[in-house]
Amino acid sequence: MNICVVGTGYVGLVAGACFAETGNDVFCVDKDEAKIARLNRGEVPIYEPELDDLIARNVKEGRLAFSTDLVAGVQKSNVIFIAVGTPQDEDGSADLSHVLDVAGAIGRAMNGYKIIVDKSTVPVGTADRVGQAVAAQTTHDFHMVSNPEFMKEGSAVNDFLYPDRVVIGANNECVAEVMGELYAPFVRTGNPIIFMDVHSAEITKYAANAFLATKISFMNEIANFCDKVGADVMMVRKGVGSDKRIGPQFLFPGVGYGGSCFPKDVRAFMRTAADQGSPLRILQAVDEINNQQKVIMVEKLRRQFHGDFAGKVIAIWGLSFKPQTDDMREAPAKYIIRSVTHAGATVRAFDPAAMEEACKPYNLKDLIDTGRVKLCENAYDAAEGADALLVVTEWNEFRRPNFERVKGLMREPAVFDCRNLYTPAKIKELGFAYYSIGRDTL
Ligand code: NAD
Repeated sequence: MNICVVGTGYVGLVAGACFAETGNDVFCVDKDEAKIARLNRGEVPIYEPELDDLIARNVKEGRLAFSTDLVAGVQKSNVIFIAVGTPQDEDGSADLSHVLDVAGAIGRAMNGYKIIVDKSTVPVGTADRVGQAVAAQTTHDFHMVSNPEFMKEGSAVNDFLYPDRVVIGANNECVAEVMGELYAPFVRTGNPIIFMDVHSAEITKYAANAFLATKISFMNEIANFCDKVGADVMMVRKGVGSDKRIGPQFLFPGVGYGGSCFPKDVRAFMRTAADQGSPLRILQAVDEINNQQKVIMVEKLRRQFHGDFAGKVIAIWGLSFKPQTDDMREAPAKYIIRSVTHAGATVRAFDPAAMEEACKPYNLKDLIDTGRVKLCENAYDAAEGADALLVVTEWNEFRRPNFERVKGLMREPAVFDCRNLYTPAKIKELGFAYYSIGRDTL
């Protein structure tokens, strides 16, 4: 098939490369000229395991191309994916301006029948709006499909090639069949392609993310209760998660979820439901707990410093919102760093993948430029002269550091473990003050 993917971010780039890998001719379009220039030089603008090889191989074999030319992409393709961003708008709703811009441009470029697929995460009813925006610009026939994406950053290629399920929302049988053929190579092990109507598919994506976010906030709230009564949330987690009806995943307490999806999707889902007069009350609590959770470690730190951050040096291990990605959108590390530097501390930070990302204006550029945050060579370098070490992202390389060495480097041996990576008794035995989530007695 000839496919055009509009938007070469985390989703569009991975989807485009994976569709090419199964033999399709894929034309990836983005309005960001610098990004397309990098891709055409053979550079991959994001950190995502396995993506570099996949792109290089498919470009070499002539199945994958990158361009800013949307008209060319639309005209040579039968299936066009919209995979542009849907960031949070001021009122919490999803900002659909990028999606609708692309819809209009597709309409203007059309030279015949097309299948237009919403891959971006969008509120129920958006495919109808996209369809109207396309129809306003063309007399050619087309069909709309909703095909939400469930990949996880950090394992996006693997998730796309071997999905748990594929959701196709199509109100036309022939179109559903074409989409089924396109995805058939990814579900050879028998995982389902679930066909449904367009509206149900749009809701499925938000409901899935909202449920996962709910699990996280639930466990975080239980963790805070454990702190109050001197229980161990990690034991509670095991006891709860071994029930097959509940399952062990997404029950890890921490400093709250972040990233480009859960925070904005929970809020957008709430907004849409409220607008329809059917408020999702449970999600209100999920969002509130998540916001509060980021504050908890800063408060533990404040107690350690008797309320005075002035002159304190804080080492931060991990900047990305989770391991195996460089994505810092809504990363808890950003909130923590802003809070402690605002209170008078300076930060020495290290992340295995997100150092370049950290320097961007929407991340930590201002604090780096003014010397409040120093980016360090490695984890040990970050610990040098620190009064506290906060482990914010659970990268593998932070799991078993040489703590004797860390202690020798720090001014005060205090570890604040935002992911419960370490065994409290062992680390305290080494002479560290140690704080974690749901295992401290407050
Ligand atoms: P992203 O910000 O990484 O990439 C979006 C890309 O779209 C950018 O490169 C941008 O330049 C491009 N773009 C914007 N407007 C354009 C236009 N008019 N023409 C051409 N290109 C344009 O976003 P992402 O993380 O890939 O997310 C895309 C969508 O997929 C969002 O709706 C998101 O919620 C959803 N999603 C994301 C993930 C994830 O893990 N990142 C997972 C599932 C679903």
